[in-house]
Amino acid sequence: MSAVTLNPSLNAQPPTRSLGSHVHTLAMTIYDWILPRNEYTGSREFRLIPTCVEQLTGYFAYPFVLRISGGVVKKDNLRYGHFVQMVHDIGKTIAAKSPRHLNFECEIVNTKQENAWCLPGGKMAITLGLIRKMEKDQTNYKLGCTPTTYEKIAAVLCHEASHAGARHQARSLEFYALLFALLAPFEAVLSTIIFGLEACDWFLTGSMLFKSRRHELEADKCGMLLLEKLGRDGDNLKLNATSPKAAIWAQHYFTANHDHSTGYRLIDWVDRLISSHPSSQERLEANKKTWEQIQNKTLPLY
Ligand SMILES: [Zn+2]
Repeated sequence: MSAVTLNPSLNAQPPTRSLGSHVHTLAMTIYDWILPRNEYTGSREFRLIPTCVEQLTGYFAYPFVLRISGGVVKKDNLRYGHFVQMVHDIGKTIAAKSPRHLNFECEIVNTKQENAWCLPGGKMAITLGLIRKMEKDQTNYKLGCTPTTYEKIAAVLCHEASHAGARHQARSLEFYALLFALLAPFEAVLSTIIFGLEACDWFLTGSMLFKSRRHELEADKCGMLLLEKLGRDGDNLKLNATSPKAAIWAQHYFTANHDHSTGYRLIDWVDRLISSHPSSQERLEANKKTWEQIQNKTLPLY
C-alpha cells in the first residue's frame, strides 16, 4: 500500500534562485543606486545633490522668501481665510500622494501680482492676486464646464510641486556644476581666443533659458499626472477624474489674460527665444495632448 500525500505542497522543495538571478538583482541594485529613477519623470539620472540638501534649502529659505514676496495670508483672515484652508488642504493631499516623499507645504502670499512658486524640497506659495483672478474668471473655454476654484488652485500647485518633485532646481545646479568642472581646465585657452569667453556666456544664457522652458513643460505634464492621481485616489472629495482639465483651463486663462504676443512673427519669435517660459499657447497645446494621453491610458500614471 503506497503512502498518500494529502497535501503535495508540503513535500515540495522551496524554489531555489540561480546564481545568475542573484547577480542580476545585485547589478540592478547598484544600477539603481548610481543612476536612480526620477519618481516624477521616470528617467534615470545621476544625482550629486542629496534630498536632504534640497529639503534643508527649502526649509531655511521659505520664511524669508514668503516675507519678501508679500507676507502670508493667515487662516483667520475674515475675507480670504477660506482660500488659506483650501491651499493647506491641497498641500496636505499633495504631500500624502506625491510619488516622491518631500515635506510639501503651501501658503498664500498677500500680493496682487499673479504668480506661484516652489522652492527645492517642496515649499510652495501662490499669490492672493492669482487666486482671486482665477475665481473671478468663470469662462469655461469650451471645456464643457468651468473647474471649481479648488481645482484651479490644485492645478497650479500640482505644477509647482512637480518642479520640486522632479528635482528641477537640483538638476540645474548639478548640470552647471559638471559643466563648469569640464570648462575649468580650458579657461586660460578660452580667454586668449577672441569671443572665447563671450561665446561661453551666450551658451550658458541660452542653455539656462532652454532648460527653464523644458522644465516648465515637464512640470505641466507631471502636474497633470499628479492631479490625476489626487482625483483618482478618492481621498480628497473635492477632486475627481476630470480635475486635470483644470490645467488646460489655467493655460486658457493665461493665454486670454497674459499673452504678450504682438502678432509680428519675428518679434514674437525673438520674444519666445529669450523667454524663460514657453508661450501659454504652446503650454495649452501640450496640456491638451497630456489630457488625451491620460484618457487613452497611453501615459504611465502615478
Ligand atoms: Zn513652473
